[in-house]
Amino acid sequence: MSIAYFNGEFVNIDERVIPIEERGHQFGDGVYEVVMVYNNTPCLLDEHLKRLANSAKLINLSLPYTLTEIKNIILEAIKRSNLSHAEVYFQVTRGIASRTHLFPDASPSFSLTVKPVREIDEKLYQTGVDTLTTADERWANCHIKSLNLLPNILAKQMAVDHGKYEAILVNNGLITEGTSTNVFVIKRDTIYTTPLTSNILAGITRQAIIKLADEANLKLVEEDFTVDFLKQGDEAFISSTTIELLPIRSVDSVTIGNGTPGVITKQLHNLYIQQYTKGAD
Ligand code: PMP
Repeated sequence: MSIAYFNGEFVNIDERVIPIEERGHQFGDGVYEVVMVYNNTPCLLDEHLKRLANSAKLINLSLPYTLTEIKNIILEAIKRSNLSHAEVYFQVTRGIASRTHLFPDASPSFSLTVKPVREIDEKLYQTGVDTLTTADERWANCHIKSLNLLPNILAKQMAVDHGKYEAILVNNGLITEGTSTNVFVIKRDTIYTTPLTSNILAGITRQAIIKLADEANLKLVEEDFTVDFLKQGDEAFISSTTIELLPIRSVDSVTIGNGTPGVITKQLHNLYIQQYTKGAD
């Protein structure tokens, strides 16, 4: 069953527990993480906790609990949910305070949900997904996993309204990332992915893939690439915690490779499944 937690208490997921003047609610003044649970075990949890701490630090937000305490809340919530395959969402905000832009004198809020996974149509892994490119209209600190997702939401909705699965964001002619995914393209057996700067989120899945590629002796470079380079790729895929690795079939209606998931994409996804989704984190 779904589980929720807010500021020290487990609550019913439908319960109305967030006060109107909560900074996450009014300002999106906070940071968050999403973690998958496979076989009762949260996947790459320490990496997600580390990124949460980093995001919080970058917006001058102190966490209400230590990372060990957060980990224990997460483990307890997973146990209570009785879900072996689940999705954990957690966020920290600047707390509950009378609305003013200035940082309040308030304790930060911590909330969490554990829910059954939103199953992704298995077919998509066989066919790949269609994508479109659009201008990256986000702010200059995309390395912070901030609650403010309006440009991501608008771009994703636009993609789906055009019959596509994901919008790939473009800044100065270069691919940054998807609305909730990192982007990889493979050309002549070399895997390219956008380097880590403040233009993109340092995806935990992205990092795991870099490690897997290295272990499998596949050549991977963290280099910027253009929209045309992506379209001319032999293979391409997007990655995230929830989708793992999902092949890209087309970009702006241009077919990638022969239009079916590529060999290296499949190899990396299989390695990811073996190493990260069996529950032995
Ligand atoms: N980029 C953005 C903008 C995202 O929101 C996400 C999803 N958290 C990702 C990339 C992928 O990150 P991860 O692999 O850590 O889920």
